[in-house]
Amino acid sequence: MRLRNIKGSREIIGASDYVIHDMDQCPGRWGEIFGNDNPIHIEIGMGKGKFLLELARENPGINYVGIEKYSSVLLRAIEKQREEELPNLRFLRMEAEHLGQAFGEGEVQRIYLNFSDPWPKDRHAKRRLTSREFLARYDGVLEKNGSVEFKTDNRELFDFSLEAAKGAGWKLLACTYDLHREKELMEGNVMTEYEERFSAQGNPIHKFIICR
Ligand code: SAH
Repeated sequence: MRLRNIKGSREIIGASDYVIHDMDQCPGRWGEIFGNDNPIHIEIGMGKGKFLLELARENPGINYVGIEKYSSVLLRAIEKQREEELPNLRFLRMEAEHLGQAFGEGEVQRIYLNFSDPWPKDRHAKRRLTSREFLARYDGVLEKNGSVEFKTDNRELFDFSLEAAKGAGWKLLACTYDLHREKELMEGNVMTEYEERFSAQGNPIHKFIICR
């Protein structure tokens, strides 16, 4: 997702209390940031934040951190959060490969990846958020029983991700090629912006949940 460059977006982000500005200060201090020791769930590549805002509203006992690399996109999430002021939601404007700078070992209970960029060229495979390289980063920040939940409508990316997870020794807790027809997995399913768009076009949504 890339929006037109919005004038002043960096300034607005810089002034927002909901954005973590110094990620190097974060590892080991998330309890202080949120003012409690509730579990931390993160979404990497949050886009405009629809999914996380909804989860944060529904689950006040969980702390959510949304990670997004583009200021112009993050701005949309900040605007919504300014209206709602959910105490259990924060944002990081960050390139996901730096995850280990923001979270210490075992600090994250769950990672959501929703409709991640496919990077279809082989030479860009390492950039896919479900590559072995990224799975190793998740391994570093997830707690022992932590999990990664991945949704996409892109079959090639989904199959690549399944292989990467198996190859790296992760266990498959759930897997479907048509989420919206799986009653059990649909319980509590929160639709992301892309999920709404692509399922409305008739594309089946694939989902897996993995843990180590
Ligand atoms: N999760 C949202 C948006 C999907 S689009 C939804 O399902 O509706 C993918 C988003 O991930 C884009 O906003 C893109 O900027 C962001 N993104 C992609 N690669 C990223 C990376 N390496 N680090 C941080 N954000 C990333």
